[in-house]
Amino acid sequence: MIPRTMLEIAAAHQPDWSAPEELSAVRNALRTRPPLVDAHSCYALAGELEFVARGEAVVIQAGDCAELFSDSARHRVQAKASQLHHLCETAETAGVPTVRIGRFAGQFAKPRSCATEVLPDGTEIPVYRGDAVNGVTPTAAARRADPARMLTAYDLAASGLDALFMRQLLLLEGGSGIGSLLAPTYISHEALLLDFEHALLRPDPARGGDYASSAHMVWIGERTRQLDHAHLAFAERITNPVGVKIGPNATPEELIAIVDRLATGHRRGRLSLIIRMGAEKIADRLPALVAALGTRAGQVTWLCDPMHGNTKKTTAGQKTRVVTEIQAEITRFCRILREHRVHPGGLHLEVSPDPVTECVDTVAELSGALDLDRYESACDPRLNPDQAQRVVRHFTRSL
Ligand code: PEP
Ligand code: MN
Repeated sequence: MIPRTMLEIAAAHQPDWSAPEELSAVRNALRTRPPLVDAHSCYALAGELEFVARGEAVVIQAGDCAELFSDSARHRVQAKASQLHHLCETAETAGVPTVRIGRFAGQFAKPRSCATEVLPDGTEIPVYRGDAVNGVTPTAAARRADPARMLTAYDLAASGLDALFMRQLLLLEGGSGIGSLLAPTYISHEALLLDFEHALLRPDPARGGDYASSAHMVWIGERTRQLDHAHLAFAERITNPVGVKIGPNATPEELIAIVDRLATGHRRGRLSLIIRMGAEKIADRLPALVAALGTRAGQVTWLCDPMHGNTKKTTAGQKTRVVTEIQAEITRFCRILREHRVHPGGLHLEVSPDPVTECVDTVAELSGALDLDRYESACDPRLNPDQAQRVVRHFTRSL
């Protein structure tokens, strides 16, 4: 059963599972599974985020927009962790200690702006909502919301975590476990599917109450952070570090309420505000929000997601993002926070470990007949390894 309170609170962007018995069997199965992460490692991350809030380190949170089951085998999770490691190493070489958080090993559910998609032949089918819900193949059959997919999401997150552990052991045994190489890789995803997240709540033995055992950190997306909805209530009841995406239309009142509910009574850095306003709007919108928080601004970790406010379309209709615009948002983010004596606490990026061509380097490239030929993302365009490195270098120079 969904807890009573959940039935009374609206929840946006939930799939239409339309198979209540299957759904209930899956929820029961998930409830008996071991936790994916233990409460102590969530607590360890909370400790690291406290350093970030104090201005002594930065977060690099990076990975896929939408992970595919077919791209989540152990070696792929290790490739994603290696890329994250190299990004952190770049920052550390520039003298900035890092906390590394993967946007992988569980990033399987997506909020979508439209419930359906119209195919070139005019057929309307349900939209893709992430591999934990339906298949990316554009057919009505593949797009049926299938509760059993949540079990696969669990299994792949579990094997991904094993792969991260193995990677750590091999580095230790290989004698290369010096300094930053041995830093833990924490995992995170958007806590979107409430059926999944609630079924994986487990008692927190150290702090009392419950923690989300699906990941060390979860965040609430821009489309589901309504104050009177179920996602914020979920974030409020768990003991993990949590993030909330903050877009250009967030009001000071909303931000104050979010901080009061999710940060008060917790250690510093428990809440990360993940700012995603776009290079154009951030200078106009962010200062009033930081100012409205007053001293509370120092209680939270401020992350810059320079991806989601900077999405463009090519003339051929492909979604893309421009590295110089991503960098411009980062420059402005750091400047605004510094002006308010608040630490720019890190980056939230969508990246691929492969040499994809989903994002472009300059605006000029958009005007021609551009064909982004290596486009493999199931959802939003990701930075390739070289682009991601340039973005992290830009951030360390902007601090
Ligand atoms: C995302 O992070 O992929 C996403 C959907 O972001 P937002 O909630 O900021 O739109
Ligand atoms: Mn995305």
